Parts: sequence; structure tokens; C-alpha cells
Amino acid sequence: MMLVDASRCTGCGACAKACPKQAIVFQDDHEGFPTPVILQDQCVECGLCNKVCPAINMPQTHEIQQAYAVQLLDKEALKDSTSGGVFTVLSREIFRRGGVVYGCVWDENYNAVIRCAHNEEEMKPMRGSKYVWSWAGDTYPEIKQQLEAGQTVMFTGLPCQVAGLRNYLRRDYENLFTLDFLCSGTPSPMAFQKYLDTICKPGMKRSELNLKFRDKNPYGLGVHITYKGRKAKKTSDHISNPYYYSFYTRLVDRNSCFQCPYGTEQRVADLTMGDYWGVAKFHTEFDINSGVSAILINSERGNVLLQTVSEQLQIVPTRAADIAAGNNLSLGNKRKTIKVAPFREQFFQTVKTKGWKAAEYRYLLTKPRVKVIIKDGIKRMIPSNVKVILKKVLKRKG
Ligand SMILES: Cc1cc2nc3c(=O)[nH]c(=O)nc-3n(C[C@H](O)[C@H](O)[C@H](O)COP(=O)(O)OP(=O)(O)OC[C@H]3O[C@@H](n4cnc5c(N)ncnc54)[C@H](O)[C@@H]3O)c2cc1C
Repeated sequence: MMLVDASRCTGCGACAKACPKQAIVFQDDHEGFPTPVILQDQCVECGLCNKVCPAINMPQTHEIQQAYAVQLLDKEALKDSTSGGVFTVLSREIFRRGGVVYGCVWDENYNAVIRCAHNEEEMKPMRGSKYVWSWAGDTYPEIKQQLEAGQTVMFTGLPCQVAGLRNYLRRDYENLFTLDFLCSGTPSPMAFQKYLDTICKPGMKRSELNLKFRDKNPYGLGVHITYKGRKAKKTSDHISNPYYYSFYTRLVDRNSCFQCPYGTEQRVADLTMGDYWGVAKFHTEFDINSGVSAILINSERGNVLLQTVSEQLQIVPTRAADIAAGNNLSLGNKRKTIKVAPFREQFFQTVKTKGWKAAEYRYLLTKPRVKVIIKDGIKRMIPSNVKVILKKVLKRKG
């Protein structure tokens, strides 16, 4: 038996979980992405692995019906959400119905994994984007059992994970709600762990890091990466933080992300959330600095769920085209293309054999990035009282 070409495999895990002989195991490839391998001596050639593989058989998709700009009214929860906090209100509604929510959390070693939450306390760690590939496969059999038992389930994750789950289930369940997001690609867990090696103090446990990719407290919306590592608290942005920069420039994405079929108006989930980048151009009624989500309604089931929670949101109809303007969403025949960095292979090789710092010095000290780092460094060297005086002087001059 042959699985889909590794360059198209998203690592959703559906094949391994569907295999009746447990003949598929996941092993890290040379870039550190878990990838399925068939144990040929246990394989009975039933072909189920290929049947459920979303890279071979994409599940039936939905057309976008309506788009909204939304912001959670609960300001406390909004602060801990990546953008407008729509995930939180939808989860609360599922718990109110006695259901469970699947979402991504950090495990004790800072691996991103999809887990099940039965209540709001268990859901809180799911808030916040973890910008690294996450493992969902183990949840599929458990979800099937819950659905069969009549429990309401909301699965949130990458579009390719939603596709994997739907193919694994092989039928629709009225009590299943799926929520994916506009996705720019998922970085290598190996590269991420090598980066974490550089910010942890020697002997420090990963769980002490408290890393946040989009910390709004107190910086407001944007990319503010904070962690407690070698320094008590360190902050940086999408350019000066080397890991985020590698994610932002699509250097460490999984190979399959470069030919991702999910970034179009044909959606695999009932609802799609995203950061509404550029919202100020289209809607002035929001407190933009607190974060605004974009949400796409793709099915009637998703529509009903969102309408049920609309009183907990500031919600304004918008155009999918306006969301697409600043985001990873392609409408019509236009497809957004991504360039593969010419030094991608060498970058991974260096990270793997010599560690993150060696790869960073060799490949990530580009001119624009160095300029930003120097500017930041100078800013940090100026004492804060001098900064206040300078600001006042500049204001007077302006
Ligand atoms: C790798 C990655 C790439 C992304 N790319 C884009 C993009 O290009 N454009 C865009 O608009 N938005 C993108 N997002 C989504 C965005 O960052 C927000 O998560 C989204 O806008 C939801 O906002 P919120 O305030 O409701 O989220 P929150 O309340 O912060 O909830 C976060 C949600 O994301 C899920 N999640 C977090 N990390 C992962 C992960 N690694 N794997 C699976 N699920 C995860 C959680 O389970 C939860 O459902 C990306 C997220 C990830 C993880």
C-alpha cells in the first residue's frame, strides 16, 4: 500500500486512526514534521487509509454564505483572545448545551496538541494562537464515540485537521460543529523546539516559559511575543523575534502548506474565524486596538450557532472580499501564491544539526530585519524618562 506523497500530507492523522490493523505509525521527517509510515508486514491492503486521506479525497465543502466582523463584549476574555474572541463565545454556547470543545493547548513540553475541554476553565488554555503545527489525530476516535453517544461537539483547528476529522468520521453528525481559521501555514515543531532551547535558561522546565505569541496585555493588538525565559520577561515583535520571523516569512511551514487547497471560498468547516487585518478601512465602529475577528458563515448549522451567541458580540456584516484583502483567503479564480525560500532545505539542515542560533545567524539576519533590531535596541537604550521628554519635544515640533 502507498500513502499520499509526503509533500502533500498535512499530518492530520486520519489514515493512522482509520487503519483497522494499526499498521500506520507517525515518524518525524527530516524537517521535524510527524509523517505517516506504513508497517508493510501488518498492512492488509484494505485501502481505507487512502479513502480517508483528505489530500486524496477532499470532503464535501461549503460555499461562504455571509461574513461578519465581530468583537466579544466580555472585555476580560477579549484580552486573552488572539483577535476578537469569537472562539470563546462559541465555546460557551457549546458548554451551555452540555457539549465539549476541542482546541489547541500547549502540553508540558510546549508541543501544540488538540485536546478536549468540558468547561470554560479547561477551554481557557486553548485561547491564544500557537504558531506551530499541532497534533490532532488522537482525538478523532474519542470524538466519534461522543458523537455516537449524542453529545454536542465543537472541533476547532486547522482546516486540514477539520478535513481529516470529517473524513475519519465518514458521515455527517448533526451534533458536530466545526470551526477552522484562515491559516497562513504551520511551522515545524522541531524548528520551534530548537528555538525554545535558545530562550530557556539551563535546567529550566519548558512549562515555566509562559510564551504568548499575541500578547495584548498591555501592548494591544498586533504581534507581541512575550515569554519568561533567560530574562524575567522578554517582549519582541514579528520581525525582531527570529522564530516569528521564520513563521511570518513562511520559511518553516510544512511542505503541504505550499500547495494548500483550503485557503479558498470552498470551506471545509461550518464556520471560519480569522484576524480581521485592515478592519479600520471598512468599519470604524470597533475598538480596533482590542482586536476584531473576521468570521465566515459556511453552513446553516454554523449560521444558527453564531446567531445564538450574537448578543454577546459586537457584530457587523462585512464582505468576504474585504477580509480577503488582508488575509490568507483567495476568492474567485485568483490564488495567493507563496514563494518557497531558496535556502529552505539548508535552513532546516542547519537547525537540525547545529541548532537554532546557527541557522538564525546564517539565514535570518536579513537587511530589513537587522535595521528593525538596531532601531529597537537604540529605543531600549534610551531611559524611559528621556523618551517621555523626546516625545513631548517632537509633539511640540509637529
Ligand atoms: C498556525 C496558525 C496560522 C494562522 N494564520 C492565520 C492567518 O493567516 N490569518 C488569520 O486571520 N488568522 C490566522 N490564524 C488564526 C488567528 O491567529 C486566531 O486564532 C483567530 O483569529 C481566532 O481568534 P480568537 O480571538 O477567536 O482566538 P482565540 O480565542 O485566541 O482562540 C484560538 C483558537 O485557535 C486554535 N489554535 C491555536 N493554535 C492552534 C494550532 N497550532 N493548531 C490548531 N488550532 C490552534 C485554538 O484551539 C482556538 O480555537 C492562525 C492560527 C494559527 C495557529
